[in-house]
Amino acid sequence: MLPIHPQPLPDEILSSWMTRLALENQFPLHTFYNKLIQFKGEIWNRDTDRFLQPLLLSQLEKYTGQPQATLQHLSLRYYESILFDHLSEVGNAPWLIPLGIYHRRRRRFGIHYCPVCLAEDRDPYFRRKWRLAFYVACEKHRCLMESGCPRCSAPVTYYRLGMGRSFEIKKYKLSTCASCGYNMGWSKPRQLHSADPQTENILFDLLQTFDRQGWHPPVPSAYSALLFFKGLITLVRLLGRRSVRQRLEPLASEYQLPNQPNRHCEFEISSIEVRSMLLMAALKLIQNWPDRFVEVCQTTGLTNSRITGDLLNEPFWLSQTIRCNLSRPNTALPVEEAKSIHQYLQKHNLPFTKINIQRTLSCSRRYATRIMETLHREQTE
Ligand SMILES: [Zn+2]
Ligand SMILES: [Zn+2]
Repeated sequence: MLPIHPQPLPDEILSSWMTRLALENQFPLHTFYNKLIQFKGEIWNRDTDRFLQPLLLSQLEKYTGQPQATLQHLSLRYYESILFDHLSEVGNAPWLIPLGIYHRRRRRFGIHYCPVCLAEDRDPYFRRKWRLAFYVACEKHRCLMESGCPRCSAPVTYYRLGMGRSFEIKKYKLSTCASCGYNMGWSKPRQLHSADPQTENILFDLLQTFDRQGWHPPVPSAYSALLFFKGLITLVRLLGRRSVRQRLEPLASEYQLPNQPNRHCEFEISSIEVRSMLLMAALKLIQNWPDRFVEVCQTTGLTNSRITGDLLNEPFWLSQTIRCNLSRPNTALPVEEAKSIHQYLQKHNLPFTKINIQRTLSCSRRYATRIMETLHREQTE
């Protein structure tokens, strides 16, 4: 066992704890992991919070007494079944800001921070949710997240505090910029761009509670966090599309869409300002689901075919709303669809009535009638 083994702090991300562990034991990272922990593999030239190495976890358990399950929880795997089904070790993942790893360098601003949290921390550390693209503001201090060092503009790379030749351990805290030595806790907090109070409340409620047990998504027909986030990412990506924003131009000021109608905004790699705008606009669109969304799409001419070609991968609450309300009228309703809704209601012991179809699909009364008629025809033929 090591003489000093700090406990993970609330919501701390694995790489932050691993860095503190080495620094508090007064060792450079390489020596610490290679010699003391006896792990000879590569650590810092990959996304440590995503790429979990079983041998590293077992060595950490052995030397710190932290169970491997706890360590896994500190990683981004924690968000499996909340934000995505399964987190792959490489490639882009929904909601995760990529690090842009190039050897031990980071080319992207993959981890953000709240300067006030860092300033208030007795022992500054980095939070797991600071890697999430929708985490645009600190729910505690209500300020915009920051993406890099305000003095030298370098991305946050706290693990590099424990590397290099002129390494002096004592004076470093994790809030220190590894490139220029600036204390990022001194950054001036910035205000989140203003939205209407209701949307802001939805945003902060989401940021505060999305990963808690029993959380109810703001769209009642999205039955779980996973289904909700799958639909939400489609909406923010949709709003990031140039062609869609051009259509929404008449509503740009009401929805505070990014003021660059000619640019495609890829959500996970856009700036915090752009992401916060796209997210707020999406959170506004889902209010009173699906009425507001349908109205906006109908008034701006956003039809099913303009929105997406493939609804198969979308969760029910979104795909059905698009299919039912934004498709061209008189499109024949596939029998399979009516059957699957019938089966779904049966499985949940709900009677096959118009109101239950409407509630389940977030669809219009007219569409529910068509479903009932389609199935009735199929059964009598
Ligand atoms: Zn904060
Ligand atoms: Zn700096």
